[in-house]
Amino acid sequence: MNMIQLSDKIQKLETSATLAMAAKARELKSQGKDIIGLSLGEPDFNTPDFIKDAAIEAVNDNYNSYSPVDGYEDLKKAIQTKFKRDNHLSYNLNQIVVSTGAKQSLYNIASVLINQGDEVILPCPYWVSYRDIVKLNGGVPIEVETDIEQDFKMTPEQLKAAITPKTKMLWYSSPCNPSGSVYTEEELKSLAEVLKEHPQIIVVSDEIYEHINFGEGRFSMAQIPEMFERTVTVNGVSKAFAMTGWRIGYIGAPEKIATACKKLQGQVTSGANCIAQRAVITALEAPVDKIQYMVDKFKSRRTLILDLIEQIPGFECNQPQGAFYVFPNVSAFFGKTFGGKEIKNATDFSMFLLEAANVATVTGEAFGNPNCIRISYAASEANIEEAMTRIKKALS
Ligand code: PMP
Ligand code: GLU
Repeated sequence: MNMIQLSDKIQKLETSATLAMAAKARELKSQGKDIIGLSLGEPDFNTPDFIKDAAIEAVNDNYNSYSPVDGYEDLKKAIQTKFKRDNHLSYNLNQIVVSTGAKQSLYNIASVLINQGDEVILPCPYWVSYRDIVKLNGGVPIEVETDIEQDFKMTPEQLKAAITPKTKMLWYSSPCNPSGSVYTEEELKSLAEVLKEHPQIIVVSDEIYEHINFGEGRFSMAQIPEMFERTVTVNGVSKAFAMTGWRIGYIGAPEKIATACKKLQGQVTSGANCIAQRAVITALEAPVDKIQYMVDKFKSRRTLILDLIEQIPGFECNQPQGAFYVFPNVSAFFGKTFGGKEIKNATDFSMFLLEAANVATVTGEAFGNPNCIRISYAASEANIEEAMTRIKKALS
């Protein structure tokens, strides 16, 4: 008899849908199936050589000891300069914490701020892990629905209607994973107008896709003077520098929050990987145009995939301004049957694409939208073309 009893909290935790789909695609591939994986949000580029060289140098320089819990001071200085250069934000070093990926940064924030029953507003679609990180820490996700007509962006009226005396935080990503939408300066200022009436609400602005932004200019919530003292700006190197496996993320935050995150991290993981931290100094100190070739590629792939999607009757899509995902509405296919099975929702549809077209995508349900699927175009042009051809064929 198995006597192992897992905790209630882990039993309630959902498996990350993005990682689960990527694992399933890998498994099918290893069985010899010709799967095209468009499920994982991961650049298909190698980490640039100038960053790899810095890591090799760090190994040879014997960086092998525990680092300070909140990151090396010279890395924090590079982050401070980056915030000033790219975002016009002035954080002192006590407001910066380096973590093992932005995922840990987000977990830290939830853990140091949420009490049982606190509400966290999540405009839908949101990045898959927000909901479970909030729940794992005793919070209650309050999902605010948006649709294609509003480019998947929450309006001030919707924000106002979602706020209650229990609201603790607002979390969003811009550019957004999965919709690719980017909040403009005006839109953020109008959300801030609502938030000004509720000084207890902390904003978590996840800007991990900031460089993969095809529009004009960019703006951070913390640039609004009244919001600086209650916004946590989250960022990392996974996406723009093609460094997903290196696991470095960071925050700029009010000092009280940063200090609490540091305390938590000191008990949970200690400082992030020392070699990766050294390499990230080089990454962040480099001129941004060093990574422009990847951004340009993502932009041309966006055009390609949008053109191909347009040729698939039944797919309805917004024009993403950033990140590397499209998030088409596929509800036109609900109610149809395949192999005797009815496609009832986006999860069934995504499974249908895997089985009938050998293309891995992620259901929108994981992002709080049951009518859409997410397709990552961080893949080669050949794979994007082949995947969309297969999808079109399977659907016809
Ligand atoms: N936020 C968003 C919106 C993401 O898409 C990701 C991707 N994994 C993360 C945070 C976490 O990034 P990482 O932990 O790789 O730094
Ligand atoms: N952020 C990526 C995605 O959304 C990576 C997977 C993950 O960390 O969950 O696909």
